[in-house]
Amino acid sequence: MKKKNRLCIFCGSQSGHNPDYQDLAIRLGRLAALHKIELIYGGGDIGLMGILANAALSEGGKVVGILPSILEKQEIGHQKLSELIITPNMHIRKSQMYEKSDAFAILPGGVGTLDEFFEVLTWKHIGLHQKQIFVVNYKNYWDPLKDLLSHILLNGFSNPNLKNFLQFVEDEKALFKELQL
Ligand code: AMP
Repeated sequence: MKKKNRLCIFCGSQSGHNPDYQDLAIRLGRLAALHKIELIYGGGDIGLMGILANAALSEGGKVVGILPSILEKQEIGHQKLSELIITPNMHIRKSQMYEKSDAFAILPGGVGTLDEFFEVLTWKHIGLHQKQIFVVNYKNYWDPLKDLLSHILLNGFSNPNLKNFLQFVEDEKALFKELQL
């Protein structure tokens, strides 16, 4: 049976103002390498994405980036990854990220991070996959997202089981404790 050890991370292509979030990306990258968990991510060498990838690589971890050619042309693809896959467009890029991963986690980020998060959540919701989805709510960054999901539920615009489709964890240690790979 194929080993399940691939964790997809969605996170900011910017570093954010609070250095605590950068430290989180570093710790998570190192821990993934230590646990021999392969990281799948967007392939950029910028923001929290680059920080995460570099931390895992510096500890000998395997990191696979999946980047659409439009972003490669802007020369922001990470050149030192274990593997860099270039896709013709964003949609193929996202579907490859999802197919090649056994679980998903989001770190602090912006609308791109949310876009990817909501897509994997929606796909799980309608039964397209059963993979674990984690929100790393470090220092409460994702509290507004938690509130938004509660609001949607309260107003009857979601399957009442919505919250069973994802797990909020407080940091990288809790993530690795809950991860069933
Ligand atoms: P954002 O949260 O808006 O910074 O977007 C980050 C997410 O979108 C990441 O998980 C990436 O997969 C994708 N993304 C956005 N910008 C880039 C970029 N310049 N290079 C690679 N991926 C990106």
